[in-house]
This record gives sequence, structure tokens and C-alpha cells, in this order.
Amino acid sequence: MTKRELPALSIVEVQDMLRRREVSPVEVLESLEERINTVDDKIGAYLTRDLTAAVTEAKKTDVALPLGGIPIALKDLINVEGQQCTCGSKILGGYRAPYTANAIEKLRAHGAIPFGRMNMDEFAMGSSTENSSAQLTHNPWDLSRVPGGSSGGSAAAVAADIAFGALGTDTGGSIRQPAALSGVVGFKPSYGRVSRFGLVAFASSLDQIGPLTKTVHDSALLMNAIAGHDSRDSTSLDAPVPDYAKNLGRDLKDIRIRLPKEYMIDGVDSAVKTAVTAAVKQLESLGAEIVEVSLPHTEYAVSVYYILATAEASANLARFDGVRYGHRADNITNLFDHYARTREEGFGAEVKRRIILGTYVLSSGYYDAYYLRAQKVRELIRRDFAHAFEKVDALASPTAPTPAFKLGEKTADPLQMYLADIFTIAANLAGICGISLPCGFADSESGKKLPIGLQLLGKALDEARIFQIAHAYEQSTDWHKARPKTIAEGMKRAGKAGEL
Ligand code: GLN
Repeated sequence: MTKRELPALSIVEVQDMLRRREVSPVEVLESLEERINTVDDKIGAYLTRDLTAAVTEAKKTDVALPLGGIPIALKDLINVEGQQCTCGSKILGGYRAPYTANAIEKLRAHGAIPFGRMNMDEFAMGSSTENSSAQLTHNPWDLSRVPGGSSGGSAAAVAADIAFGALGTDTGGSIRQPAALSGVVGFKPSYGRVSRFGLVAFASSLDQIGPLTKTVHDSALLMNAIAGHDSRDSTSLDAPVPDYAKNLGRDLKDIRIRLPKEYMIDGVDSAVKTAVTAAVKQLESLGAEIVEVSLPHTEYAVSVYYILATAEASANLARFDGVRYGHRADNITNLFDHYARTREEGFGAEVKRRIILGTYVLSSGYYDAYYLRAQKVRELIRRDFAHAFEKVDALASPTAPTPAFKLGEKTADPLQMYLADIFTIAANLAGICGISLPCGFADSESGKKLPIGLQLLGKALDEARIFQIAHAYEQSTDWHKARPKTIAEGMKRAGKAGEL
């Protein structure tokens, strides 16, 4: 193992080396930085990073801690005191966080080092990272394609071995969908499991912070660090946090899994159908009992989401008006002009679309017809899951209906973009937990391998069981060991020199 090959390792593997003193935390950071410098101009995952500050932290870290000396990349909407936090938006240009998010305080208490601010769709609105005001992020498996979104920078960095692990956020799929499209593991915790203190809010009743990693074990370790009650987030749950890594390696003998029929519909890519069907068979061969189940209100999930999430976003984004944070328009003549021009200049098209939609569904005369009605349907969706989880431990489905699509393919058609989250959104509405993990590949016309994700959903606070099932599946396959050929140069695990 040369230092150049270090970034290809999982968190568990790096930890081992750190604890055996075969490498120091500073060397880990430096080898990562070197690889970022050779690869990221092709990927565009990082917005900024501060090696000097990270090295200072690394020198003080204790490698005996659970994540001692492990650099973790952050989606650029999680506040860390002194670091930028642009949310991928021009309106937060120049803003520096005055305080640190609870999830990051917890990561640091476990010895991890926050390193790098990752590209994202503006205010986490999007499914391709193309709504970032800063730059495009390319999928490491095929640079002409999107990495998914909105946590696309986090997912692409983990896939390209330029981050050992990253934090993203999932409001309607933004961890799981990019994890699927980029071929990594993405975990959405149950609502309330991870504190939202210090996370810039998009839709407060749906947002959760969660990890993107190379393996299920790494994901469980990051969850061990960030989960748990925080009195500064009133929606944070005061429930004990089990050791998520503890049940890994158990068999699936008493586990019942279902494949909801609403999740294998027309419009799902045939390679995705084939891979997910095979994955469910594989779970069966590992001992799980498989039955079909129905979630009858699934078809309303996307519509309900785009009413509730936009309503919440229109309220949450009202604070960005040029008075306190970031961008302010020049040559203002009066107060109205100040608000209007600052917001006109600062927000991108998708964010404006959502603010307008959200303001509309909340306005008097429409509130009952849209917002209130959507709340009622949200309850029906929640009950669908509650019924299903009376009989089963997990629901299996594709994470996304298609593999990674081409950059620019869906930007002109917002509805097509919204449908990229058709299988992930319902879990956020119901507040349950879920994971996406690699389960196969589709072939693109140009001969590139495009990753496919298997989604496993579990009931609220049943994270440990989802990790157990996901780990058993992962360890019985080789999908998670594959590395994108385009960025494989110098990587021992990939075997071959790459094309980049
Ligand atoms: N793609 C969905 C949206 O655009 C979900 C985003 C998210 O989970 N943050 O709203």
C-alpha cells in the first residue's frame, strides 16, 4: 500500500492503518489532497477545502476514537464555524458560518475531521446537482452524466475515491438517489434521529442529515457518530441510539422483506428492474422471507411532496433577503427594491419556481385546497407504511427509476427531474429510514458501466435492522468493490490504469 493508494480504502480500512500507526492522520489528509488535486478537475465535487485548518485538527486528533483521524466531506449546507456555507447559491456568496452544526460537533467528538465543502443543487432542490450556482459535477462512472442530486458532490467524491465518507441531506431522496447513480452507499435516517441544528433548512418536516460512504459498515460508523438527541432541535428524538455496527454479520433468518408492487412500474429502466429483481432473490437466498405488498397511496407521493416541500421552503427561504446574510444588491433605492433585487439576483430559476409554488399553495383561498389536502394525503402515505411494517421488517425497491442520465438531459423539463425521486420521496413523507446500496450495473450506449441502487426502507428508528440487511446483501456480492474506470489510475483495487 503506497500513500497514493490510501484514498481507495474504506473508513474501516484506514482506521486499522491509523491504529496500527502505519500512517498518521496528517498523511491520510495529504494523500487525499493529492488525489483530489489530480482527479477533481474532471469531477467538480469540491467547492472549497482548507487543508491547513484540517491538518491542524488532524495533529490533535486521537486515533483511538471511533473515527479518529478520518476526514469527512460536507455538503455545503451544514454549518461549521468559520467555513463557507453557500448552499450552492449565489445568495449566500461570502457567508461564513458563525457556529457549528450538532452533527459536526458529534463527528468531531468521535475524532473525525470535517474536510471540504461539497457541490450541491441550490438549497438542495434538484436531482442532478445541475442547479448549483457554482459548477457542474460529473458522474465518475461516465463524465458526460450527472452524479444525481442534490448531494451530488458528496456522492461523486466518495465514488471517485476523493472522500472516504461524506455527509449529505435527504429531503425527498437527495442522499439515496445520488448514492444510487454514483454507485455508493447512502443512508437516510428516520426523521428526528439526527439533529438538524446548524443545517440550513429546505423543508423542515422532511430534512435529515445522513452519510454517503463506500460500504454499509462505514455508513453505520458515521451514523453511530451523528445520531442522537439534541435539545437545540425540537424535532430531535430523545431515544437511545444503538450501536449500528453491532448487528452487522448476522444472518437474515427471521427477516421478512417485501417488494411493493407500486415500485416496479412501467417507466422503470429494464436494467434497473433486472438488477433489483435479482437483488431481492439474493436476499431470499440469504434467508429472508419475501412477499409482495401494496402501498396504495404511493402514486400521490410526488404531488404531495411538491406541495408540502415548496410551502415549507417558501417560508424557510424568506430570511434570505440581503439584510443579514450573503449577497445584497447594489444601488438600492428603497426597501422593496432591496428585497426584490437581492432575491432576483441571488436565487436561481428552480429555487424561484419553488418559492412561487410554495407561496401559492399557502395563500388564502388555496391553503385548504392544496396545503391542507396534501397534509391529509401525507397521513395516508404514512399509514400505508405503518400497515406494511406490521408484517415485514423492510421494503425493497429500486432507488431510482433509471441509471445516471446525461448532463442537460432533464434541465429543461422540471417534471421529468422531479420523477427521478419517485421511489425515495414517500419515505421522507412518512419519516421512516432507508438506504441505497449498489446492486448492479447498466451499460450505456458508449459502453460505460452505470451503477444501479437497491433501496431498503425500514420503519422509524429501525436503522439497526436496515444496516443488518444491507450489510448481509453487500457482503454476499461484489458490487461495492467495483470502482469507476475513468478515475482508476493509480488505484490498486481497480487493477487497471484509468482514462482520466
Ligand atoms: N430531488 C428532490 C427535490 O428536488 C429532493 C431533494 C432533496 O432530498 N433535498 O426536492
